Amino acid sequence: MQEARNLPTEGTVLTDLRSFTHGQLVETLKELGQPTFRVKQIEEWIWEKGATSFDDMTNLPKALRAQLAERFTLGGVKQVARQISEDGSRKYLLRYPDGTTVECVGMPTGSKLAVCVSSQAGCAMGCAFCATGAAGLTRSLTSSEIYDQVMHVRNDFDMRVTSVVLMGQGEPFMNYDASLAAMRRLNSPDGLGIGARHITVSTCGVIPAIKRFANEPEQFTLAVSLHSAVQKTRNALMPGVRKYSLLHLYEVMGEYVDKTGRRPTYEYALIRGVNDTEDELGALCDFCRDNLAHVNIIKLNEVKGSRFQPSSDARAGEFVRRLASVGVEATIRQSRGQDIDAACGQLKQRLSR
Ligand code: SAH
Ligand code: SF4
Repeated sequence: MQEARNLPTEGTVLTDLRSFTHGQLVETLKELGQPTFRVKQIEEWIWEKGATSFDDMTNLPKALRAQLAERFTLGGVKQVARQISEDGSRKYLLRYPDGTTVECVGMPTGSKLAVCVSSQAGCAMGCAFCATGAAGLTRSLTSSEIYDQVMHVRNDFDMRVTSVVLMGQGEPFMNYDASLAAMRRLNSPDGLGIGARHITVSTCGVIPAIKRFANEPEQFTLAVSLHSAVQKTRNALMPGVRKYSLLHLYEVMGEYVDKTGRRPTYEYALIRGVNDTEDELGALCDFCRDNLAHVNIIKLNEVKGSRFQPSSDARAGEFVRRLASVGVEATIRQSRGQDIDAACGQLKQRLSR
């Protein structure tokens, strides 16, 4: 019965081969009586070439391709919708086999291609200005589901991906293992081979995960969504991280910089009358001065039905000048895909520096 063991019966959901670790793949091929070099061949098809069918794997014997297809799927995302902006950026709505959908974006600049991916379908953190937060969490994504978004965008543009940001839907540090595994695979020469510094993870400030991240050996880039350096304002804007005080965040970020020597980015979406006042600007300068920090001033995306309005461009300019006057480099993040509808309320303006 050895042969029939893995055969699907009617209604069986086949296992996604992409969810296998290297060790599991080695074991599986051994069980099928295959030489070990097949593992490398299959991994190349999955992670470098982005094969979506076993039939694509032309250097495998036909019989093996059939055996694999009987037992496994290759996950595979389906494109539900794609919007193309006048500036060339493309936004996608993708669906996984279980029906869950997420968004991702590709942003080309010359020969460079930046991709923004989601780490969860929805988000449980409930930030007041964020459309994803308003909808709650559906589920976390697996590492291959995160990786597949990048592959999808790469295949659609037919370009090499030069940077990736985990700044789509979801909180990557509430899905730490899968997010890190996806980042590692993106970085790996056996995957897309994207430089670690060009892979950025953005967190709303989950402190235990920031501490853990500081100990990872790769030179990944960290972005922290700050949005206010005044405790009361931040509590109201970001209720999901209320339990972590700004003082604690400040200390942990100091440790992060000491340990890694890398400069974190702080994201700050300017909201008229809420976090763009003189007091708020003063608190932001105090939070960042004398620290290794880069501040990204983001123009708030207006979310339907929200009471929050973006600040003026002049106010954003003033923030940059004042931060510079205390020695903190700040940039106003270039906006992309203005004309494509950003339903999740946040995918328009993500461009890694
Ligand atoms: N959960 C992570 C990463 C995804 S959100 C985080 O919060 O950092 C990516 C970025 O979009 C965050 O900086 C978030 O604060 C920001 N964002 C959310 N809603 C926005 C809006 N309406 N306008 C501008 N930026 C927004
Ligand atoms: Fe979640 Fe980030 Fe949106 Fe906050 S801003 S609700 S953490 S996705």
